[in-house]
Amino acid sequence: NPSGKFFLAIGLSNAKYYVDNLAENVRRGNRAKLRRGEWPGQKPFGYIYDHRLRNIVPEPKEAKIVKKIYEEFATGRHTLKSISARLAEFSGNKKSKSNCAIEMFLRNELYMGIMRWNGEAHEGKYQPLITRQLFEKVAEVLKNHGRPRYKKQQHNFPFCGLFRCSCNSMITAQWAKGNGGIYRYYRCTRKQGECHEKYIAEDLLKQKIIEKSQAIALPADWAKELFGKLEIEEKKSAQSATASSEEVKKKIILLDERLDKLVEGYLDNLIDENTYKRKKQELIEQKTSFKNEKESLHSKQMSGWIEPTRDFVKTLCQAEKITKEESLKEISIFVQKIGTNRLLSAKSVSWVWKPEYEFAQTLLRRFAVRQNGSLRISVSPKSRSPLLCAIQDSNLWPTPRQGVALPTELTAQTRSKTYQNN
Ligand SMILES: [Zn+2]
Repeated sequence: NPSGKFFLAIGLSNAKYYVDNLAENVRRGNRAKLRRGEWPGQKPFGYIYDHRLRNIVPEPKEAKIVKKIYEEFATGRHTLKSISARLAEFSGNKKSKSNCAIEMFLRNELYMGIMRWNGEAHEGKYQPLITRQLFEKVAEVLKNHGRPRYKKQQHNFPFCGLFRCSCNSMITAQWAKGNGGIYRYYRCTRKQGECHEKYIAEDLLKQKIIEKSQAIALPADWAKELFGKLEIEEKKSAQSATASSEEVKKKIILLDERLDKLVEGYLDNLIDENTYKRKKQELIEQKTSFKNEKESLHSKQMSGWIEPTRDFVKTLCQAEKITKEESLKEISIFVQKIGTNRLLSAKSVSWVWKPEYEFAQTLLRRFAVRQNGSLRISVSPKSRSPLLCAIQDSNLWPTPRQGVALPTELTAQTRSKTYQNN
């Protein structure tokens, strides 16, 4: 229907904008940094960011502390709590890290020069703070006496570390007896001092998360339409990129032929040396510009915005399905994907949507209303947007640049001359 298409149109063009410009550029930038051995993430304790080197460098005092903590823990005489207290003591912090946090600190491969990003390891070109042997020794100690607790937290408290309290402390999880059974609840660690926030039962927390994430839930039929449209666009852009690059290829062949003729003419004394040199220069310049164009076409084809957009729509679908999700861990991963600055306050959750999802929820709020639990489009079917018409002609889609359609005689030099004469 028209209004559905309207949504589709602006949805896609904007999704393209957000996903392409924000997510994908960041991702690509991160990948490039990782390849160069530069850390793209937040600066870890022990390092400062050197803008000249575009990488992290040891912060002398903190670096010493990192090394000392690893060395002390490697002796096996510490518990997570006592090593955390040591770290607080050295770094002058009043509050010590939670067990979760100190363990993450002790398992941070960055310190031995390995950058782990989305599960993949990259070699860092910055200075490591500890040796691999020391790191492994610490891992061994953690394995021996830290494991049961670690496992328990990993498996039983899926929302641990997901939210902060309104007082800025982290939220931790705990077992409790009540209502004739044992249940799990989440509460403030109170690391920042006094806090009056109440605990929240896991079931209720799950429900609150699901409720909030419904703001970006895309109805299945809309999603289907979007996927269909994406598939068409994928084919179209592949075709047009191939066609344009073929065109440029042909132009380069023509130029080569002209170059051959020019050389022949010169050798046959039909052209004088100056004319030959000037003409040759012009042709070479043209050829270079065509070659650049060919390369940029190629990179455009490679940079595809379609895949990230598809991922984006998939996440919106997941939001629709999350009401039936049984795995709390999945829900936790999902929330991390869509929101930052996640906050738990007054038994209610909030977060800052990542830009593309902020956009999605604004749009869904504008064009859809909930009626009896199902989504309906609220715009009247008569309201056809000019955007829709435009998009149907694919005017808003990125099309590969067409070859410069100038007569081959009209070169860069003569062109500027013509301009000056006018
Ligand atoms: Zn608190």
